[in-house]
Amino acid sequence: MSDRKIECPKCWTQMETREEEIFGPNVHIDICPKCNGIWLDGGELKKMLKDREVSDYLTKDIGLKSRSPLICPRCRSLMDLEKAEDVEVDVCLHCRGVWLDAGEMGGLKNVPIDGFKKDETAKTEEKWEVFTFELRNSNFTDFVNLFSRKKK
Ligand SMILES: [Zn+2]
Ligand SMILES: [Zn+2]
Repeated sequence: MSDRKIECPKCWTQMETREEEIFGPNVHIDICPKCNGIWLDGGELKKMLKDREVSDYLTKDIGLKSRSPLICPRCRSLMDLEKAEDVEVDVCLHCRGVWLDAGEMGGLKNVPIDGFKKDETAKTEEKWEVFTFELRNSNFTDFVNLFSRKKK
């Protein structure tokens, strides 16, 4: 899947793949030759940042709402904006790929390993979105039964 060429979600230029040396198997990232934005498929941010907490923070519990104008270049799903310190990245709500504008990779590498600014309120809201969505889609009768049984 990741061998397919993708277009830059910002300026629609065909992106080029570049091999990044990291510990372990190298990562092939997609880079836009025009605006220098970088696309990282799901899990690649974690590899690039070497398992840092900030990559989990940016790609987990991102809710269901899309606040980003971008469309995922990989799977065409909606994307959401996630922020750590002063770096705001676009994350795909479906495949968890990450879009970084030029310079944002450096910004993320500069985020302290621990003790970066976390927005707990936003994260709680996003977790709640997913929870209520799953509740609505689960078997409602089971849910009612569970409560009525508890009352007895
Ligand atoms: Zn571009
Ligand atoms: Zn996607």
